[in-house]
Formats: sequence, C-alpha cells, structure tokens
Amino acid sequence: MTIHQTGLRRATRIAALGVSEILAIGARATQRQREGHDVIILGAGEPDFDTPEHVKDAAARAMAAGQTKYTALDGSPKLKQAIVRKFQRDNGLTYEANQIIVSAGAKQVLGNALLATLDEGDEVIIPTPYWTSYADMVAIAGGTPVLVPCSQDNGFRLDAAQLEAAITPKTRWLLLNSPSNPTGAAYSAEQYRPLLEVLLAHPQVWLLVDDIYEHILYDGLTFATPAQVEPRLAGRILTVNGLSKAYAMTGWRIGYGAGPRELIEAMAVVQSQSTSCASSIGQAAAIEALDGPQEHIGQRRAIFQRRRDAVVAALNAIPGLSCRTPEGAFYVYPSCAGVIGRTAPDGSKIASDADYCAYLLNHANVAVVPGSVFGLAPFFRVSYAASDEQLTKALLRIAKATQELV
Ligand code: PLP
Repeated sequence: MTIHQTGLRRATRIAALGVSEILAIGARATQRQREGHDVIILGAGEPDFDTPEHVKDAAARAMAAGQTKYTALDGSPKLKQAIVRKFQRDNGLTYEANQIIVSAGAKQVLGNALLATLDEGDEVIIPTPYWTSYADMVAIAGGTPVLVPCSQDNGFRLDAAQLEAAITPKTRWLLLNSPSNPTGAAYSAEQYRPLLEVLLAHPQVWLLVDDIYEHILYDGLTFATPAQVEPRLAGRILTVNGLSKAYAMTGWRIGYGAGPRELIEAMAVVQSQSTSCASSIGQAAAIEALDGPQEHIGQRRAIFQRRRDAVVAALNAIPGLSCRTPEGAFYVYPSCAGVIGRTAPDGSKIASDADYCAYLLNHANVAVVPGSVFGLAPFFRVSYAASDEQLTKALLRIAKATQELV
C-alpha cells in the first residue's frame, strides 16, 4: 500500500524539535558506511560491553516462571526493595518503597518528573554543556530550559554565583548530571556544597539529579549525590539512576527515581497513562543486577579508565586540540578552538565545531559529535565506548586529518 503525504500538523509542543542531532549524525555516518566507507563511529552513548551473564540468566528464569505480566505501576515490590538496598549500600540514603518509582529507563523517570510538575513557562536551569534530551524534555513538558554555560576553566561545573543569577520566581528545577554526558565532569561533595547552599535559600527550586554514570568514576574518586551531601534538601530532590550504563543494560529499559512521596505519586499518574509499568522481565533482571555480583563494574571501570587516559593523551598530542581529563562517564569533550579558521585540503573553511566534525567524517571517516549540539562550542564529544583497536585507528585518523588543515 502506498501512503501519500498526509499534511500532518504537528503539535506546537514538538513543532520546533527534531529527533536528536546525535542520531542524525549517526545516520549520516551509517549512510557513509553503506556507501562503502570504513567509518568509525565514536558517538555511542552505551557501553560496548554486554549485559553480564548472571543478569541475562535471571531474566530467562523470570520468563520461564511466568513473570510475563504487568507489574505494579511504579515497579515490582521486589525490585523496589533492591533499589532501597542499593541506595543504602552505595549512597548511605534511606528510602521507603513509596519514595521509589521504576520506569522504562532513567529517561522516562526524568520525563515523568517534568510532565508531573511543569506548567507553561516554568523554568528549568540546565548547566551546559548538557545532555541534549534535557532541554527537549523540558520543552515537551511545557517548561522553559534556562541554559547556563559552564566553562572548561571551571571543569565544566556550574558555580554558585551562576546558579544564584539564573534563579527567578519561575524556576522550578535545577537539573544536575554528574558524571556528565557530554563532558565526563563530576562534582565532589565539596563542589556540590556551594550550589546546595544556594538552593537552601530558594525553597521553590527543586533539584533533579541524574546519577546514571555513578559507577563510571575514575582515579579512586568518591561518588557524591546531593541528597546525601545535603540531607536538609532531600525533601525536594529527585535522584535519578538506572541500569543502562553501569550494568550495560541500555536495551532492557530500566531506570528509577527516588524522592519525596508526593512527587513519586505525581510521576506515577503520568506513567500510568504512558507505559503503565516497565518491562516485567527487565525488572527481574534488574533485581539480579543490583543484588548480584558487582565485580564486573570495577573491572569495566578499569578498562574505561585505561581508554580515557589513552584518548586524552592522543588528543592532546594533536596541535589545535586540547582535552581536559574527565573524572567519569565514557566521553571526552576536547576543545577544537585551535583549528577554527583553518582551511581543509578541498579549500573549504573550518568555521565551527560542526564544520570540523563534518570534515572528520567526510575526510577521515570518523564520526564524533560537535559541541554545538550540547550547548557549548567549539568543542566536540568523543565516546570511548569502543574497542581499543577502533579507538587507536580513529585517533590516528583524527591526527592526520587535523594536521592537513592549514
Ligand atoms: N541521562 C544521561 C546523562 C544519559 O547520557 C542517558 C543516556 O544516554 C540517560 C540519562 C538515559 O538513560 P536510560 O537508558 O536509563 O534511559
């Protein structure tokens, strides 16, 4: 059957939005691959490891035992208990089951929270560079993203004066992500403290904390989360986490949030009219992931750290690029300020980070994401969730192509 143009009028709330630019770049890269080019894509937002076997086995057992029906809307009681134990064990935080919600990924937790709380024009402060989905999710929920640029000189972290200046009577949330996608920057407890002091003085502002990269933190640093650092704020903090990154479970779609009961209940209202519950099989697997052996986390972290060090060193050896050593996640966010204004062998000018990334794709067959997508230019994001072999090859290509710019 041929389907003709329908003349669809998109809802205003999404009219200005597209699918993620990162996906669009990935699509251009795979198109080049189809055309026969050997393109290396360093854009992945997911570990290149597989889900641990014991977790897959738990899912298989759950299916065999008939756990294939809807679960409780806000998560199976057993998974919620595993999450309660996780917060106690890893973060020293005590939650009741009714302060926890399980959703189809951390992304749905964030979306639920924004849809449950934002009215038209309510503001959400988002430090940039930021994970691109944040601003679009705020917009879909009717809110206004307030982007606050955080410089590399401050480790891409928001400072207290910037936060104070960004708060207005319309501010509902501050959204923090540590370690960060795209910069890998993380806040220590000491670095969080001045920001939390500011929030204590503004009771209308709540804090949305995205801890999804909690376990991917290097150099023996201690992970900090605001509800633990400033218990006086815990009554207006939603701590979001999930299984995707630490347990290599992106496709299982399990995330969770912990916060005050009133908020969790409001989020459950939203979820009840979208996905109902997260997958029953995914939830069974998540129990095993959280309660079972955790050694793989440290082993994988060591591999990521070794890759981080190699990638940072290789990038810093390329004239025109400079790369800060990130504390966590599996991304680096080098500056390409030194190549802006140069000319490519075909005579075209590199006027922006987007031009530089397009040049790397077309000339060196390496796909990376321009910083302009994440709200801070001229930078680019490199994901090192890729094999050592691919990384080595890609970095040699980036070096050669960058040296050919005059
Ligand atoms: N938060 C950040 C900062 C991310 O980078 C991602 C995935 O890329 C997510 C949340 C989404 O996680 P989930 O797979 O649990 O929805």
